[in-house]
Amino acid sequence: MSTEPEIPRGGCTLTPIGRIHSCFTEKFGIPRQPGLVSEARATLEILPPFDRREMFKGLDRFSHIWVHFIFHEILAEGWKHTIRPPWLGGRTRVGVFASRSPHRPNFLGQSVVRLLALRFENGKILLDLGGIDLLDQTPVVDIKPYLPYSDRIAEATSGYAMSMPAPVAVLFSEEVIAFGVSYQREQGRDILRLIGQILQQDPRPASQKEAGRDFGMKLWDVNVRWQARENDFFVLSCRRLMVG
Ligand code: SAM
Repeated sequence: MSTEPEIPRGGCTLTPIGRIHSCFTEKFGIPRQPGLVSEARATLEILPPFDRREMFKGLDRFSHIWVHFIFHEILAEGWKHTIRPPWLGGRTRVGVFASRSPHRPNFLGQSVVRLLALRFENGKILLDLGGIDLLDQTPVVDIKPYLPYSDRIAEATSGYAMSMPAPVAVLFSEEVIAFGVSYQREQGRDILRLIGQILQQDPRPASQKEAGRDFGMKLWDVNVRWQARENDFFVLSCRRLMVG
C-alpha cells in the first residue's frame, strides 16, 4: 500500500475526550456505516478533564448523537488520494473526499449512533451506544446531538452509494445456538443477533466473494467462524478467547 507524504500541520491539536469500548475487537466484521447493525454496542468512557457532569447536562434528551473520532488503527498505514469503495465492487476508484474511507488526511471519522444511556457510575461518565461502526479503543474527539429537523435530508442523493444490497441469509449450527444462549445468560449480550445482523450485510472484501471460503471474526471475547456458501452464510463455531 502506498503511503502519501506527510501533511504540513496547521497548529491544531485534537485531544480525545473519550475512548470507545466496543464489541468489535478487530476491524473485520465492523459494519461499513453506523445504524446498519442495531445490536452493535459500545460504551464511550469520558476521559479527564472532560468527565464533568455539567458538560453532559441535557444530552440524555437526545436519542442519537454524532460521534467524531480518529481512525486510530489506520494511522500507520497512511492516507490515499483515491479509494476503491466496496460499493463499486472494489474495482473503481473515486477521490478520497468522495468516500467515507478511513484512509484520509487527518483520519477523522463521524458516525450517527443511538444514545442508549448516559450513566454516572463510580466517578465515571459512560455513554452506552448502539448501531456503532467503531473499533474497540477508538479515540473520540467530540460528540454532538443529532438534530432530525436539520440533519435528516429527505431529498439527498448519494452518488454511487444508492441503496443497501439484499441481506444474505444466515444460518447457525446447533453448537453455535447453544453457545449463544449460554453466553447471553452469562454476559447479557445477544451474540446470535449480533452475528446475524453483521453477516446479513456481507462483510467480505470484494476480492473474496467466492463461495466455499471460511472466515473468522472477533466479537467481544468470542472468536466466530463462518462459511460463505452458495446462497447463505453458515456460522460454524463460537469459541471464548483467553483474555488477559
Ligand atoms: N461512519 C464513519 C465515517 O463515515 O466517517 C466510518 C465509516 S468507515 C467506512 C467504517 C469502517 O472504519 C469500519 O468498517 C471499520 O473497518 C473502520 N474503523 C472503525 N473504527 C476504526 C478505527 N478506530 N481505526 C481504523 N479503522 C476503523
